[in-house]
Amino acid sequence: MIAARFARPARFVQTLLLSLGFILISAAQAAPSQTPGFYRINIGNFTVTALHDGRTQIPQRLFHGQDNSVIRLLLARAFLPITRDLNTSVNAYLVQMGRHLVLIDAGGGNCLGPGLGQLHNNIRAAGYSPDTVDMVLMTHLHSDHACGLVDDEGKMAFPKATLWVTKDEASHWLSRDDTGQNNDHAAFKIARLSIAPYITAKKFKTFNAGETLLPGLVSVATPGHTPGHVSFLFTSGEHSLFIWGDIVHNHAVQLSRPDISIEFDHDQQQAIATRQEILDQVAQKRTLVAGAHLPFPGIGHIRAETGNSATYQWVPIEFGQEALGAAAAK
Ligand SMILES: [Zn+2]
Repeated sequence: MIAARFARPARFVQTLLLSLGFILISAAQAAPSQTPGFYRINIGNFTVTALHDGRTQIPQRLFHGQDNSVIRLLLARAFLPITRDLNTSVNAYLVQMGRHLVLIDAGGGNCLGPGLGQLHNNIRAAGYSPDTVDMVLMTHLHSDHACGLVDDEGKMAFPKATLWVTKDEASHWLSRDDTGQNNDHAAFKIARLSIAPYITAKKFKTFNAGETLLPGLVSVATPGHTPGHVSFLFTSGEHSLFIWGDIVHNHAVQLSRPDISIEFDHDQQQAIATRQEILDQVAQKRTLVAGAHLPFPGIGHIRAETGNSATYQWVPIEFGQEALGAAAAK
């Protein structure tokens, strides 16, 4: 009798606990996997917002110039998995320069699977709108940088922006007759489709690497990865930031061994020479750098290893850290 009297409340409590458990499990399952990917830093009077487009994977076999055992050793030293493809961040950078809102690269859009294409959501999460970007500067026209120039219908994803590409890069992707079925064919098609609506709208401009594009914004030739690959140096007062595109595809591998190239390099030897030169310069000058494939937000410094000026380490900026340009060396 007593047992029967408590049987019902016990069942009630049991049901309640099961329901609560279900709600908690559902809540856990519904939780977003990550926070919006943006990170802000001031460079003098400029406001730089790093934007995470997502992640992609690079198979280890695409790194050239060293035995795979060397690659695995370098990954192990950086506490990265040695038996898997390499996780690679795809970053873009939005720079507020007075009345100009300048975007460096546009991410992978919908070309490279669900891991990429978050750029536009993160622009909005950072408090901006793609409609207010007035200049898009491309480091180069590979799909992980250019596909985000257009929306799902192939229209301009930055409708008020003028698109800027180096003359060498434009001539490589636009002038060459590439109607065949070689490996580059898909890349040419994607590059052309990504910039086509800007050309139609007369919002496409070319420049020579080395030109000053705005006060405080100078382009710097960094060829090799593609023929017209370019980087950008932003300077405001005593602070600067060098945004370098695809100088490095994996910090653990190519900072320790800058002579390791990647399959995607148009000219492997030129890409290696450019990487060595740029790493040497930014390490010596203590220049703050940002890279499209450095771990998000991809902003930090390059330090030469003690006793070996040809080997480097990545030193990421700390959250909330103020700008540390060349001035820090004084
Ligand atoms: Zn890239």
